[in-house]
Amino acid sequence: MLYKRSSELFAQAKKVLPGGVNSPVRAFNAVGGDPIFIKEAKGAYLYDADGRRYIDYIASWGPLILGHAYPPVIEAVVERAHKGTSFGIPTEVEIRIAELAVKMVPHIDKIRFVNSGTEACMSAIRLARGYTGREKIIKFVGCYHGHADAFLIEAGSGGATFGSPNSPGVTQGTAKDTLLANYNDLTSVKTLFEANPEQIAAVIIEPVAGNMGCVPPAEGFLEGLRKLCTENGALLIFDEVMTGFRLAKGGAQEVFGIAADIVTFGKVIGGGLPVGAFAARAEVMDHLAPDGPVYQAGTLSGNPLAMSAGLAMLTALNEHPEVFDSLAKKTAYLHKGFDKVLNEAGIPHQINSFGSMLTPFFTDTPVMDFATSAKSDTERFKRYFHGMLAGGVYLPPSGFESYFLNDALTYDDLDQTIDALRKCKL
Ligand SMILES: *Cc1c(COP(=O)(O)O)cnc(C)c1O
Repeated sequence: MLYKRSSELFAQAKKVLPGGVNSPVRAFNAVGGDPIFIKEAKGAYLYDADGRRYIDYIASWGPLILGHAYPPVIEAVVERAHKGTSFGIPTEVEIRIAELAVKMVPHIDKIRFVNSGTEACMSAIRLARGYTGREKIIKFVGCYHGHADAFLIEAGSGGATFGSPNSPGVTQGTAKDTLLANYNDLTSVKTLFEANPEQIAAVIIEPVAGNMGCVPPAEGFLEGLRKLCTENGALLIFDEVMTGFRLAKGGAQEVFGIAADIVTFGKVIGGGLPVGAFAARAEVMDHLAPDGPVYQAGTLSGNPLAMSAGLAMLTALNEHPEVFDSLAKKTAYLHKGFDKVLNEAGIPHQINSFGSMLTPFFTDTPVMDFATSAKSDTERFKRYFHGMLAGGVYLPPSGFESYFLNDALTYDDLDQTIDALRKCKL
């Protein structure tokens, strides 16, 4: 049995952890079977409890853009830990990481650190509501902004009307303030603005979507959103929890040349420790407590351990911006290799990629929003996932996730990955 120890651990886990995991996507519900348990990781490789090695394409769902156990981050954490991990009192490292983030990312003057991407997005929405004095927000079907109530909303049958909650525990009252638009469809956004004059505080979007698989914005889409927000007095929030410090130093704002009003971060900004952040121009951020009336707080926010890890990560990226180009080239290489294998095998597919994000979809139809992403063949995905796993490649255990390449991956690793696909019985 390939995964004997992992299966034993999963049986133990299920007794004390709901579903055996602390975040649902780690379970193999979408692909079947028991999740593997990881013992350690280094560079581009994961090692499981049974001693098997995997080439890793999730990098902890994005944070580890330079590979696992990246020495400067590990050294910063170890050195800091000896001096105490949290005080609940200001420390100098908070200023240094904030200065660096503000320097790397365009259109932001001030940044507040929190402990997760969820917290960052939840707080960004509160700030937008406090700033505009309006209550409703627009989000896109298929975009994920963390698990706060306001974001767990699915389209009702009316589509562009009021959403209904898609998780028990989210109230109708909350759901009615979250309006749903379709990704890459400006008309759906315009319709919502027209139907809710002077009521929309913000539009929140993943500027390159990753949570319905990788779906890049169509030409002109983000520009159009920027224009609609400005015309209607709503704030444009770029959720860059995935794309921030991954697509470029300045994230999607830099890549597309578009200024968002609020930007949220997570994942890479913490270098593998729990960190989120939200940032904006000073005039918006000054609405936040203690300067302004919009309340937001956190016992462990900006703790020196997490900030030291984040600072080491951002410093590395700031000093080596060639990493982004190197990653984009590796991603393009994988894209091309996968495309060739799937073409030769006659398997219907679409591969979307952008920068170091990539998703293969098993469908004939170009994927540009949630509805087209959902056409992907989930049975074929299961065979693909397990075939790749047995071939020593760890992929997200769901067809609707982005791969996150890390720069420790070598071209030899990419060739081995393409070879594993060739051997898969799809
Ligand atoms: C991961 C993610 C979040 C949530 O971040 P957590 O740290 O998991 O709470 C929010 N938005 C986007 C775009 C993400 O990818």
